[in-house]
Amino acid sequence: MASPASHLKYQWIGLISSTAASIWILVKIIPELTQPGAVWVIAASVICAFYCSDLLSGIVHWIFDRYGTEDFPILGPSIIKSFRDHHKDPQSICGHNFIVTNGDTCIASLPLLACGLILNPADQLFWVSLFLFTSIGGFLTNQFHSWAHEDSPPKIAILLQKTGLILSPEHHAKHHSGEYDSNYCITNGRMNALLESTQILQRIEEVVPPTVKKNSLSSK
Ligand SMILES: [Zn+2]
Ligand SMILES: [Zn+2]
Repeated sequence: MASPASHLKYQWIGLISSTAASIWILVKIIPELTQPGAVWVIAASVICAFYCSDLLSGIVHWIFDRYGTEDFPILGPSIIKSFRDHHKDPQSICGHNFIVTNGDTCIASLPLLACGLILNPADQLFWVSLFLFTSIGGFLTNQFHSWAHEDSPPKIAILLQKTGLILSPEHHAKHHSGEYDSNYCITNGRMNALLESTQILQRIEEVVPPTVKKNSLSSK
């Protein structure tokens, strides 16, 4: 089982690695801004990343809410347990420092950044930018989630929540009502409409039965 201290070490490695990779990608992108239409390509990638990061947050959240156990190797004690504990005590994620709040999402964003590093922005500008901005959205997901639970979030968070750019408390409350079986997206919540209208996750659960029963997800 990973101790909190050893997990914190991995979170720091994730933060340093993801920051270095993001800067590296930016350094590769900047010279391409002289390409005709490059600004529009990047703007389009940012819009797509807004939705992609939210969709990824929903899929990851759904997997860790519904599958696996707290004694699952590596992920169980650190990641899966935190998702399950969050339902029992939603406000326990508030008040953590930056690394504890965002360290795990830094680690999770590394595969996206690796894709951005592999591609050449000279002829794959949209995709390199998409991977970069999706990873940034993913990296900040737990920060936005935490703000949605705080009684007094920062003013900038309230502004972003009201404009719909990040997850609002009202929207996220839908996940914490009932049996935690809907509205899994937690970056900005925009993709929940698609997932809930298609019931795609629930259809997958019919084929691959969850290891966690719904009533065991309910808060105490
Ligand atoms: Zn949940
Ligand atoms: Zn929550």
